Amino acid sequence: MTKAVLDQKVLKNHMGGEWAEASEVTDVINPATGETIVQVPLSSKEEVNQAVRAAKKAQKEWGLVPAPMRAEVLFEVGRIMKERKEHLAALLTMENGKVLEEARGEVQEGIDMAYYMAGEGRRLFGQTTNAELKDKFAMSVRAPIGVVGLITPWNFPIAIATWKSFPAIVSGNAVIWKPATETPIMAHELMKIFIEAGLPKGVVNIVFGRGSTVGDAMVQHKDIRVISFTGSGETGSHIAAECGRQLKKVSLEMGGKNAVIVMDDADLDLAAEGIVWSAFGTSGQRCTACSRVIVHQNVLKELEKRVLEKMKALKIGNGLKEDIKVGPIINQAGMDKIKKYIQIGKNEGAKLIAGGQELTGDQYTDGLFFEPTVFTDATIDMRIVQEEIFGPVVSFIPVASFEEAIEVNNSVEYGLSSSIFTQDVNQVFKAQRDLDTGIVYVNAGTTGAEIHLPFGGTKGTGNGHRDSGVQALDVYTEWKAVYVDYSGKLQRAQIDVD
Ligand code: NAP
Repeated sequence: MTKAVLDQKVLKNHMGGEWAEASEVTDVINPATGETIVQVPLSSKEEVNQAVRAAKKAQKEWGLVPAPMRAEVLFEVGRIMKERKEHLAALLTMENGKVLEEARGEVQEGIDMAYYMAGEGRRLFGQTTNAELKDKFAMSVRAPIGVVGLITPWNFPIAIATWKSFPAIVSGNAVIWKPATETPIMAHELMKIFIEAGLPKGVVNIVFGRGSTVGDAMVQHKDIRVISFTGSGETGSHIAAECGRQLKKVSLEMGGKNAVIVMDDADLDLAAEGIVWSAFGTSGQRCTACSRVIVHQNVLKELEKRVLEKMKALKIGNGLKEDIKVGPIINQAGMDKIKKYIQIGKNEGAKLIAGGQELTGDQYTDGLFFEPTVFTDATIDMRIVQEEIFGPVVSFIPVASFEEAIEVNNSVEYGLSSSIFTQDVNQVFKAQRDLDTGIVYVNAGTTGAEIHLPFGGTKGTGNGHRDSGVQALDVYTEWKAVYVDYSGKLQRAQIDVD
């Protein structure tokens, strides 16, 4: 089993370039073993205020550093992350539970994001255009916003942080970051890397603590000019309402109810593999996890058979062991929610054909493990088909046509990711046009986003902003229009146009 050792037992906040203890702490539990790994601060509003003061001061200078020089720090961050990939991945598995190969993949996303956003330091393109008057020049440039607040979830504790913090940093902002209390270790390790990479003091500040205190204080703080949030729909809607009241910019990435569509001409083995990977990877605790399979009725039985067959290879346990494919559920609340939905599915009349139980017994006693679960004969009015469960549970919904498949896909309140397995090129192009989600895959599962494309969703998943991709820069910059008149006289736009 891989070993990774933390250099301290109690984590500290990082504000204005200094590590700072908090008066109250809580335990961080390894969900695979029930062991306490470390303790994390439960900070107060005062610590948020302190961090914002430091960030404001730091941003004044950082915003004036040329972007290619700001980017140099990110190149170095990427290099150190690459050097430390195994160490970071093992710690990530310990705090979050996802299996080691997925943890490595998540760290790699962060490395890729570092290099990609470092490249943006030499672009950050604005536009030059023609002015409507003689001897006048017009352009638009991206300007930093100032102090930005990042609130991140436990399920991708390092990748999502890099999707948000790297574009914020290269754009010349200072950052206040509140990681999820369940998974603070990645934040702590990334902060150490920022320091080693030469990021000036105060440009990134980490305040650990509960969303209801630290997160809320960030949302309320008048000097935090934008909030970038990833998490549940419930929390996101609350934050959006608060930001709305203050006219504060807010970027939201929230839940999903993602579907794989399997048409009757699909390669069924490939589809089954895609379903198993997208439904049960990270124990279904991905925002892009497949939790619905919309399958043409002609191939329903055969697809069920092949999915159940492939599920036999899923070894469940502590993700630090290389042969484990499905890790634990993050905490007791997550487990209770999954169990509640299993009962709801049964009561609604869906047919349980695999799993459905919490795993107990010697090898599972200290952790929280749930069997990969399949319901079939589900219908669109069922809650298990409409609501996010956030666990290894997938429901098969039979349909009679391509048109019905698209309709069923679009019938949920979320719009993050969707996929279609078919050999028909006409259906492929119609599907990518008609699926109402921010991400569409063809002949692949619902997960596997690449960092240089925009990540986010439609409808209840988001509010129109995107993480990662060049589009992320829109969250952390203001567009400024600049006019330079070199005519030597006062020209009045519109009025002076003949
Ligand atoms: P969550 O409970 O909403 O928490 C997300 C973050 O918000 C945590 O840091 C949390 O802090 C903080 N928070 C909680 N209440 C707050 C408040 N009143 N004000 C400010 N911040 C507050 O979500 P989660 O359970 O961690 O994450 C799972 C959810 O995230 C799922 O719905 C999943 O689909 C979604 N997700 C979406 C994407 C995407 O890109 N669309 C990606 C990943 C996950 P504490 O927990 O520390 O108290």
